Order: sequence, then C-alpha cells, then structure tokens
Amino acid sequence: MAGFQGKSVLVLGGSRGIGAAIVRRFAGEGAAVSFTYAGSRDAAERLATETGSMAVQADSADRDAMIARVRESGPLDVLVVNAGVGAFGDPLEQDPDAVDRLIRINVNAPYHAAVEAARRMPEGGRIIVIGSVNGDRIPFPGLAAYAMSKAALQGMARGLARDFGPRGITVNVVQPGPIDTELNPADGPMKDIQHAVMAIKRHGRPEEVAAMVAWLAGPEAGFVTGAMHTIDGGFGA
Ligand code: NDP
Repeated sequence: MAGFQGKSVLVLGGSRGIGAAIVRRFAGEGAAVSFTYAGSRDAAERLATETGSMAVQADSADRDAMIARVRESGPLDVLVVNAGVGAFGDPLEQDPDAVDRLIRINVNAPYHAAVEAARRMPEGGRIIVIGSVNGDRIPFPGLAAYAMSKAALQGMARGLARDFGPRGITVNVVQPGPIDTELNPADGPMKDIQHAVMAIKRHGRPEEVAAMVAWLAGPEAGFVTGAMHTIDGGFGA
C-alpha cells in the first residue's frame, strides 16, 4: 500500500500502544513519518528503525517544546495527536498536580499542536486527535478528570473545524473504547468490568484504531470534519 506516498505525517506520542500502530500504518503506506515520545527512548528508537520513521523526544506537558517540535516538522499533511495520560481515582484523594498535568497533556497540547500545525498546513490537511469514548460516557467512578479532558477535545474539534474549514483542513476526534495497550491491557484488572458494558466483549486492537485514523487522513474523508468517530465495541451504545 502506498496511499500516503509523499505525505508528511507527525504523530505526537507514537512510541507505544495506539500511537505506535498509527506510526506503522502511515509508514507502511509510504508517508514520511516523525513521532514524539516522552520517556520510552528504547521503544521509540526500535520503532523508528523498524518503520524508517524519525523519533524525537518532546514532552507534551512542556508547551513550548511541543510547539517547537510541531514547527520544526515543517508543513504537515497530517497531524495526529495521540499522546494522552490517565489520572484515575477518587477525586477527593487525587493529587491536584496530577490532574493539572493531565490537562496539559490531554487538552492544552492538542489545542496548541493543532493551531501550530495549521499555520503551515497545505490545503486539504488533516488534524486528528485521539479522544476517548469516555468523552461521551463514564459508566464507572474515578474517571472524572480523564473524561473532562476527552470531552474538551470535542469542543476543540468543532471549533477548529470552523476555523480551518475554509482551507479544506479537517479536524476530527477518534474516540476509542478499551484498546489493548499498556494503559489498558486486555488481561488487566478492569477487563471484566469494561467488557460487561460492551456489545463486543473484547478489547480492541491498536491496529483497528489506526485504520480509522488512516481513513480520516485519506482522500475519501475530505468532507468529514468537526466530528467524533467512536470505535469502542459498543461501550457507549
Ligand atoms: P499508552 O500509555 O500505551 O501509550 C501512550 C503513548 O503516548 C506513548 O507513546 C507515550 O510515550 C506517549 N505519551 C504519553 N505522555 C506523553 C507526553 N507527555 N509527551 C509525549 N508523549 C507522551 O497509551 P494508549 O496507546 O493506550 O493511549 C493512546 C491514546 O489513546 C491516549 O490519548 C489515550 O487517552 C487514548 N485512549 C486509550 C484507550 C485504551 O483503552 N488504551 C481508550 C480510549 C482512549 P512514552 O512511551 O515515551 O511514554
């Protein structure tokens, strides 16, 4: 497959999990891919070697470093903001610094990255942010801060779709349900609770999310913008 030959793609948070699957997908289709990571240097370097992509350390919690990375990537055909963290637990017990860090990574970084990318993005560019079905539905306690951050992306995508639409740039959110990664392993302690509310009682695969991202980035999706695209095995049904 060479559907993205000649296209420049930046994935923020690409070293592991869903982000790594997105890097593999675009690189496998011929794109020039670069991606960021925070701490997983070995995993990032292995993935870069495997896929012929470029790995760059840039912490999304550091606004200026993250914006600089987007700027230094040059004109991007596709920006994917995948980097995200959880801060789960009783809000009465949570460390407020952890909640603020989550907001910096899950909300502030996608906004600033999208705006910076749009400055140089050519006509028809694509901005895709990985949200969560928890932006729509929170069936368990302990998810308020995470859900708040993912719901914020919905307003962001709707607004930026209006701002950048006249240039043919689309802005979309992909909202996974439980996906088998280190953040949410298919054999982890939450497995049974999550599967109980799903129509398809299994974790999704990172490659399934990457396929939706690739479709949104491709030529068939040029009329799709300001929208949320849920891939959750019926978690939110
Ligand atoms: P993982 O924890 O498995 O991987 C997270 C990736 O993001 C890693 O590459 C990590 O880099 C990177 N990252 C995290 N924090 C930062 C940061 N501060 N700066 C730069 N990169 C960072 O998570 P998933 O793959 O499961 O999740 C990816 C996205 O999908 C997140 O936005 C998450 O909220 C969302 N999601 C996941 C679901 C799931 O069930 N797995 C469900 C719904 C949404 P490093 O390796 O260096 O730490």
